[in-house]
Formats: sequence, C-alpha cells, structure tokens
Amino acid sequence: MTFRVGQGLDVHAFDQARPLVLAGLRIGDSGGLAGHSDGDAVLHAVTDALLGAVGAGDIGEYFPSNDPRWDGASSEVFVNEALSVIDARYGDILNVDVTIIASRPRLSPHRQAMIESLAALLRIPVAQVSVKATTTDHLGFVGREEGLCAMAVVLLEMRG
Ligand code: MG
Repeated sequence: MTFRVGQGLDVHAFDQARPLVLAGLRIGDSGGLAGHSDGDAVLHAVTDALLGAVGAGDIGEYFPSNDPRWDGASSEVFVNEALSVIDARYGDILNVDVTIIASRPRLSPHRQAMIESLAALLRIPVAQVSVKATTTDHLGFVGREEGLCAMAVVLLEMRG
C-alpha cells in the first residue's frame, strides 16, 4: 500500500461587493473574495493539494484565470476535476486538513458547516475532514484585512 501527500495554498484579496464563499459554503452576502471564479480560496487550496498529491500540476493549468468560462464559476467545478484526476490514478482520500488564515470574519461559528460542506464535496466522511482558522496577530496583509489565505494538506491511499 502506498500513500501520497499533497499541499495547496491560496490567497485572495477581499472584495466587499461579493458574497463570501469558503469550502463551498456561502458564509455571507458581502465581504467576499476577489478574483477568478467565486474566489473560494479553501476549495482552490484543496484542489491544488489533491493535484499535488498525484503530481498532476496545479489548478492554473486546468483552469487558466484568463479563461472567461470560469468567471464567477462555482469552485466546486475545480474540486470535481481534481477528484477525477486522483480517481483516474487510483487514489482515495484518507484525510484533508485545512487552515484558513484570516482576521475577519470570525470563522469559528462556521467551522462545522465548512467541514460538512467539504466532506460532501469530497465524498468522504466528516471524520476525515478538518478545518481550522487562525489569525496573524494583526501582522501582514491578513492583519490589515486586505485578504485571506487558505492552506490544505491531503493524504491519499493509492489502490494502484
Ligand atoms: Mg484562488
């Protein structure tokens, strides 16, 4: 039996006018994230972690940010593509651990719902998903509330 680990990291600037979507969950009607798609930095980090675990490139190769098809798209599309890639290589997700680094909003009230959303998207039990949140103690772009950062680590068991 072999195992593969993957990591992903994503940063997005805040865009007050957009809804905030994290881990596929709509957290607020405003205070969202700028950029490509719905700006769901958690799903982008998870997508990169899945791709990274099997050495299959990164999210930007599959979904170029200059491609208008992904403007405002749900980031669930990206996760589903990564799931297809790891499935084609006989990988099963053993666990996913996510850290969100943000000064706002307070994420602890949404933590369980984000775990449940991520578990459903990844089609794995809730017990195999972890979502944590931290701040930077007022330092840097996170401390200045300019944006947020999401990090993800995944472990795969390879059937092949
Ligand atoms: Mg991104």
